[in-house]
Amino acid sequence: MRHLGSMVAALALMAGTAQAKGADTSQAEAQALEITKRAIAFRTVQGPGNQTPDYAEYLKGLLVAGGFAAGDVTVTRVDDTAMLVAYYRGTDSAAKPLVLSGHMDVVEAKPADWERDPFTPVIENGYLFGRGATDMKLDGAEVVATLLQLKRDGFKPRRDIVIAYSGDEETTMKTTQALAAQFANAELVLNADGGGGSLAEDGHPQFFTLQGAEKTYADFQLEFTNPGGHSSAPRKINAIYQLARVLDRIGAYQFTPQADALTKAFFTEAAKQQTGETAAAMRAFAADQSDKAAIATLSANPSYIGQIGTTCVATMLSGGHAINALPQRATALINCRIFPGVKVEDVQAKLVEVAADPAMTIKYVEMGTIPNDASPMRPDVMKAVRKALDIGYKGVPIIPGMSAGASDSMWFRSRGIPSYGVSPTFIKDSDSFSHGLNERTPLANLKPSMAYWKSLITDLSR
Ligand SMILES: [Zn+2]
Repeated sequence: MRHLGSMVAALALMAGTAQAKGADTSQAEAQALEITKRAIAFRTVQGPGNQTPDYAEYLKGLLVAGGFAAGDVTVTRVDDTAMLVAYYRGTDSAAKPLVLSGHMDVVEAKPADWERDPFTPVIENGYLFGRGATDMKLDGAEVVATLLQLKRDGFKPRRDIVIAYSGDEETTMKTTQALAAQFANAELVLNADGGGGSLAEDGHPQFFTLQGAEKTYADFQLEFTNPGGHSSAPRKINAIYQLARVLDRIGAYQFTPQADALTKAFFTEAAKQQTGETAAAMRAFAADQSDKAAIATLSANPSYIGQIGTTCVATMLSGGHAINALPQRATALINCRIFPGVKVEDVQAKLVEVAADPAMTIKYVEMGTIPNDASPMRPDVMKAVRKALDIGYKGVPIIPGMSAGASDSMWFRSRGIPSYGVSPTFIKDSDSFSHGLNERTPLANLKPSMAYWKSLITDLSR
């Protein structure tokens, strides 16, 4: 449980009555919950009946009713979905905008598999259940409700604050690409879909992850082809054996471990949460990326192997066409998660080198991803996040993080726009069901989250 009420009251006493008024976010909390419930009921899933445009129009209606100029809020349709852009005008039109990024779509959910209907919001035992409760309709609603509160308070930012919500983050990311192009001039992007806090199983806040980088996703198809023939007359050359030998070599290969400013900071901070061998390995690796013992310890841990460099792993396999014929073809898919700053072509070249068989063909499989560098750990961002978190989670450690998945930030970072995953939602590992069944989020988040957004958005738009 949080003790935010007393903490806010104490802060207000220190800051005087003007701030005390502004510190009351209860109306905004109620509105954020109401918006989230409405949001979950929109079935914003790619394909026939996609209600993302309806959800976007609903948000537009709220923003305009809350004081946004009608011309400053636009819903743009793209294929079966839509994107939402809303300008909260600043006093300095020459200042670069602060972009608040998020997505309105969700991953498909089959009602038959769920205990409750995924598109009916249900509150039970302090949790909000529904598709998008975690990823990311609550966070999206909190940002909208915060801007509506700032309007009511008469807050005037220096730079424009822009809501830029995509409608296909979970699929094609066409709207994300359009938004990144439209806001290529942004000062920075705060992504409500990324980062976030970790709760221990007893409910106490452990640490907050500030997501400043994403690995690049890439798939490669490896293939051997043979003339084939009758299986009663085997030949020396066999596509299945050739492929097996290559996969064995790739499986044994480890890309040279590396670190950047962000992952060094990650290991330094994460070491404080750990004990024994793992903590020692984290410290040693942050200091020296060629430390063999540290590499061995971290590589053996599924939570950390992705943090120390590029990884590639075989994920799919097929070969042969008949039980009594020599294979004419054998194919494998290799999925790579590439360290920021490393080129996809260089990873492909390394796979060819390690495979060491000129008969193999390799093909990059286009999946709509793009390489992107880590965003710098800007002191202004770190300071604003620290201050915003301290309202509800005083002193909780902030750990800079690189995520292995892809979010809208990928398209902003690929244009050199600093982008940070800063969701204030704290959740237990055992409650983490985003993309999965019975997705849920603890509602104890609402109060600290609303105070957090208000503080963060005001600080970074000055
Ligand atoms: Zn998401």
